[in-house]
Amino acid sequence: MAARTSPFDLSKCARPNILQLQPYRCARDDYKDDGTNVLLDANENAYGPGLVLNSEGALQADGAGVSTGASKPEIDFLGLNRYPDPHQIELKQLFCNLRNTHHHTPKTLRPENLFVGVGSDEAIDALLRCFCAPGKDKILTCPPTYGMYSVSAQVNDVAIVKVPLDAANGFHLQPDKVNEALSADPSIKLAYICSPGNPTANLIRKEDILAVLQHPTWNGVVAVDEAYIDFADEGASLAEWVTEWPNLVVMQTLSKAFGLAGIRLGVAYSSPPIAKLLNSLKAPYNISSPTSALATAALSAPNMAVMRHYRTQIVAQRDRLLRELPLIPGVGRFLGGHAANFLLVQILDKDGSPSNATATATYEAMAEKRGVVVRFRGKELGCEGSLRITVGTEEEVTTFLRELRGVLAGLHAN
Ligand SMILES: *Cc1c(COP(=O)(O)O)cnc(C)c1O
Repeated sequence: MAARTSPFDLSKCARPNILQLQPYRCARDDYKDDGTNVLLDANENAYGPGLVLNSEGALQADGAGVSTGASKPEIDFLGLNRYPDPHQIELKQLFCNLRNTHHHTPKTLRPENLFVGVGSDEAIDALLRCFCAPGKDKILTCPPTYGMYSVSAQVNDVAIVKVPLDAANGFHLQPDKVNEALSADPSIKLAYICSPGNPTANLIRKEDILAVLQHPTWNGVVAVDEAYIDFADEGASLAEWVTEWPNLVVMQTLSKAFGLAGIRLGVAYSSPPIAKLLNSLKAPYNISSPTSALATAALSAPNMAVMRHYRTQIVAQRDRLLRELPLIPGVGRFLGGHAANFLLVQILDKDGSPSNATATATYEAMAEKRGVVVRFRGKELGCEGSLRITVGTEEEVTTFLRELRGVLAGLHAN
């Protein structure tokens, strides 16, 4: 039978900005996780979830993480026929307790200050939908930075104004330049600031964020992404500062320090009116009951102790990488800071210059021949020749250092 001609033409039917999207690609699309690779590409917690688990990997039923202390299992499988709680007040209160440190204000966060989402990626997107009219408003980002801001902007048909971090100077924010851009273009409604930065791993100075918050005329929102904040110094989080600033939003996640990337749970702290808008626009049942139960468990005292224990080990391995990586011939300097669970480091060519060709060859040889997957970041602004290395377990770091030495010796010998 001859093919029927159809009036349907996808290329003219779907929204033009959606047609231009490329599917998300990560290092694991190239190098599948077959269980043998050392995965230092996605900034996960290699030690595991911050939960007290038994030898089978099941959550302890003896009270660890259960707020009632009762010996019932964490996840009530019998309740899965019911819709989850759309408000998550108990979980929100635990997040408030976590960040009410009074380092930055005597005021206190309350559940009305919170939005909980499917990872902080949902919060990033929800903010865009909340504040930016498609085809009209804009966001501001500070490259090099996290890729989801621009992906979400493109999905929402929102343009991006870029004000780079100061690459020559430790990737600090340039608040004067940010403020100039905000003055010049009132259609910018949102500024995403990543602190600690990805891939730059440096904490943005509080006074630099303050300078943007104090912009005299701009009517917009400052969204600080603190996905890695638990790897920075104690008290570094500005979450509770949202009680002082009506246009500050602080995003966090359980995907990194808490080791729960698989459950997809992120939060945004804001003034109650902004939180109300975000909660109104979200899908009502965005947080599943199992995710809520695991997140609640993770924020209980015994499980927080597990998270802190793993974090101590990650920080120790980070310090070890800072000491031992520079001893390997062909490794250049660290870019950015070290306030996260990864490091950005330059790879040098035979002449000792940072080189994307050598860094790419290193990335590929490490994954294909040595079973160690890291992330090439050399195409990011100011990151020439760089690889981003997630801090793994002690054993993984040992393997990484040994294999990197071998790969670079081979590349430089040819
Ligand atoms: C990993 C990461 C996130 C996190 O995302 P989830 O959706 O919560 O897993 C957000 N921001 C930055 C900068 C990240 O690196």
